[in-house]
Amino acid sequence: MDKSNLNKIYEELGLSDKVIAYCSEIEDKLSQRFISIDKVAEFNQLKILKAMQDNRLSDVHFAATTGYGYNDMGRDTLERVYADVFRAEDALVRPQLISGTHALTVALAGNLRPHDEIISPVGKPYDTLEGVIGIKPRKGSLAEYGISYRQVELLPDGSFDWDGIRAAINDNTRLATIQRSKGYASRPTLSVEKIGELIRFIKSIKPDVICMVDNCYGEFVDAIEPTEVGADLCVGSLIKNPGGGLAPIGGYIVGKAEYVENAAYRLTAPGLGKEVGASLGVLPSLYQGLFLSPQVVAAALKGAIYAANIYESLGFDVLPNGAEERHDIIQAVTLNSAEAVIAFCKGIQAAAPVDSHVTPEPWDMPGYDCDVIMAAGAFVQGSSIELSADAPIRPPFTVFFQGGLTWHHAKFGIMMSLQKLFENGIIKL
Ligand SMILES: *Cc1c(COP(=O)(O)O)cnc(C)c1O
Repeated sequence: MDKSNLNKIYEELGLSDKVIAYCSEIEDKLSQRFISIDKVAEFNQLKILKAMQDNRLSDVHFAATTGYGYNDMGRDTLERVYADVFRAEDALVRPQLISGTHALTVALAGNLRPHDEIISPVGKPYDTLEGVIGIKPRKGSLAEYGISYRQVELLPDGSFDWDGIRAAINDNTRLATIQRSKGYASRPTLSVEKIGELIRFIKSIKPDVICMVDNCYGEFVDAIEPTEVGADLCVGSLIKNPGGGLAPIGGYIVGKAEYVENAAYRLTAPGLGKEVGASLGVLPSLYQGLFLSPQVVAAALKGAIYAANIYESLGFDVLPNGAEERHDIIQAVTLNSAEAVIAFCKGIQAAAPVDSHVTPEPWDMPGYDCDVIMAAGAFVQGSSIELSADAPIRPPFTVFFQGGLTWHHAKFGIMMSLQKLFENGIIKL
C-alpha cells in the first residue's frame, strides 16, 4: 500500500506528521523483537489448538445451560481444554468467577483452614488481595477466619531473599502466594523459570506447601506457564490475557485436581463443587477468546515494547526498559508531571474504539490516597487486555498502561499519547 495513504488516515485521525515520522523510525528498529514475540504466539496458538482438537471440541459445546447447569458438556470440556493448555490435572473456568480477585479469593479460601498461614515470598501482593487476606482489615477477610499471613520482601536487586523465606516458613505455613506480574508495583515481573526455582526451594523446605501463582497479565507471554514448573495452582482473570478480549466475564483456577476441587466447593457449595454452575450462553466467547488470546497477547506485548522504546528515546524512565525481555504485558512510563500523565491518558482515550469522544479526568477514586486518572474505551467494561492506561496523580507521575486487541490499535494509541504530549508542549520533536 502507498505510504502516503497510511499517513493521510493517520492525519485524519489527528496525528501530526512529526509524530508519525518519529514513531515510524522507532518501529523500524523493532522488527527482530517482534519476530520473536510472534514465535511465542505461534507456539501458544498451536498448544491451544491441540487442546481443542484433543478434547474433540464441537458446536454442541457452545450451547447455553440454565438453572443448576447439571451435565453442562460445554463447561466441562472448556475446563478440560484449560487443564491441557496449562498442563494441569484440572481446571475451574467459570463466569461465576467474576474477576481475578474473586478467583484468587476462591482458590485461597477453598484451600485454607483456621490456623493455616499464607506466605508471600515476593513482597506485597496486588492491592485488592490486601483486603482478601486481611493485611488491611476487611469484613470477611481470611484473617477473620484465623488464617495468618507473612510476607518476605524481594531483595533490592529484585532477587529472592532465600534466607528470609527459609526463616519465614513454619509448621503452620500452608500456602505460598506468588504473584507473577509486578502489577502496579516497581519490582521486576518474574519469569516462569524464576517462579519454578522459587517453588522448588519452598518445597525443599516444606513439601506440603501449596504453591499458588497469581498469573494475571502473564498468560501466553512465555511458551510455558507456572503449572509446568511446579505450581500447584495458577489463577487469573478472563478479562485479561486468556479471554482474548472476547470473554465478557470470568476467571480460571487450574492445577492439582484436589486443590481445584477444594476451590470449587468454595465457589458453589461443599458437596456440589464443579457439578453445578450454568454457563448461560457465554461459552462461545470463552472458547473463541482463548483461541485468539496468543495473538492478542502478542499485540499487547508489541505495543508495550513500542511504547517503552518511544518514551525511552525521549528521555523518560520506562519499566521494563526498551530492550528487556518481557514476562507480562504491563508497561510503566514515568512522565514527571501531572500534566504529562493527564495528556498521555487523554491520548489513549482519544484512540479508543468506544468512548473516544469522552475526556478522562483525574478523580478521587475510593481506595486510593490521591486522585487517579483512567483511560479506557473498551468493549468489555474494565477489560485491561484492551488498550487502557491509568495513573495515580502523585510523584513521580508514572502512567501504567497495557493491552491492545490488535497491534495496529496499540500502536495508534501510543502515537496518540505522544501527540497529546506534543500538542501540550511537553515534548519537542
Ligand atoms: C488484575 C490483577 C488482579 C486482580 O484483578 P481483578 O481486577 O480483580 O480482575 C490480581 N493480581 C494481579 C497481578 C493483577 O494484575
